[in-house]
Amino acid sequence: MANQEDLAKPPSSLQSFLEDLHCKYKPLQNGAVANYIPELAKVDPDSFSICIVTVDGEVYEVGDSQQLFTIQSISKVFVYGLALEDHGRDYILTRVGVEPTGDAFNAIILDEQSKRPYNPMVNAGAIATTSLIKGSGATERLNRMLDMFRRYIGRDVFVDISVFTSERTTGHRNRAMAHLMLNFGMIDEPIDTALDLYFQQCAVMVNCHDLAVMAATLANKGVNPMTKEQAVNSRYVKDILSVMYTCGMYNFAGEWAYKVGIPAKSGISGGIIAVVPDKMGIAVFSPRLDARGNSVRGVKVCEELSQHLGLHLFECARLVKSQE
Ligand code: GLN
Repeated sequence: MANQEDLAKPPSSLQSFLEDLHCKYKPLQNGAVANYIPELAKVDPDSFSICIVTVDGEVYEVGDSQQLFTIQSISKVFVYGLALEDHGRDYILTRVGVEPTGDAFNAIILDEQSKRPYNPMVNAGAIATTSLIKGSGATERLNRMLDMFRRYIGRDVFVDISVFTSERTTGHRNRAMAHLMLNFGMIDEPIDTALDLYFQQCAVMVNCHDLAVMAATLANKGVNPMTKEQAVNSRYVKDILSVMYTCGMYNFAGEWAYKVGIPAKSGISGGIIAVVPDKMGIAVFSPRLDARGNSVRGVKVCEELSQHLGLHLFECARLVKSQE
């Protein structure tokens, strides 16, 4: 197995490793594209791209890393950061917990005692988080969110209206969760106000390159490595990365932490981001999903990258290296 030394290899070797991974997993067709949001089922299931952006702004990419798709649950990470900036850690903790659930992303459950949703990475917690975003009306709140995504990506972003309306028409399960939270006072506004904003954040269009820059921004203390803009207050980066680490891959989070060992987040459209603090952001896009809603090729690619580059946070070679 390779170790941290690989990070110091000439850039071309990382590029060729990504190309090898792409070739190796291109034939893998296990899994199925999400279709519970009808518009998502129209994606080309064979799409496959990988991108790494380092904190120094180096880019390694393979496949069509410019192909746009909706960000879906990966948005939860960044909106959580905005909510922390809006209200501070203590208040946010009274509304959304930080416990992994071991349940699916769309489970209709709240913490029995506190009535809070378990964490901001599952749908219930994300809807509660979104409902906390400040602004004087729906447009201002959406614009604040879009501006936050712009800081992480380095260009203006927009919402895919057909995916947004498709989910808005069919998202009854999320509506059920929102009702439950309204009942327990975890949401203070009409549920459709919160859900519209949530469905819009999920329908923001990104590509694999964008996702890698966003992940690299989190790796780089909240500063976008390409534009040098501070996308999120650095004091909240550790909170964001902690919940990604323990909850970002839903009911696969434990196995992911064990095998891959870095904070990550997946989305139902087929994206995965992973963050190697102080080093790099990784993004994979491949829409076929496993039973837990994680990209099949995405998981494989991240497992191999972690092993090959020695990225696991508790990798001894890495720990020894950082003490030198
Ligand atoms: N918009 C999707 C939903 O709320 C996001 C889920 C996901 O990406 N896991 O169901």
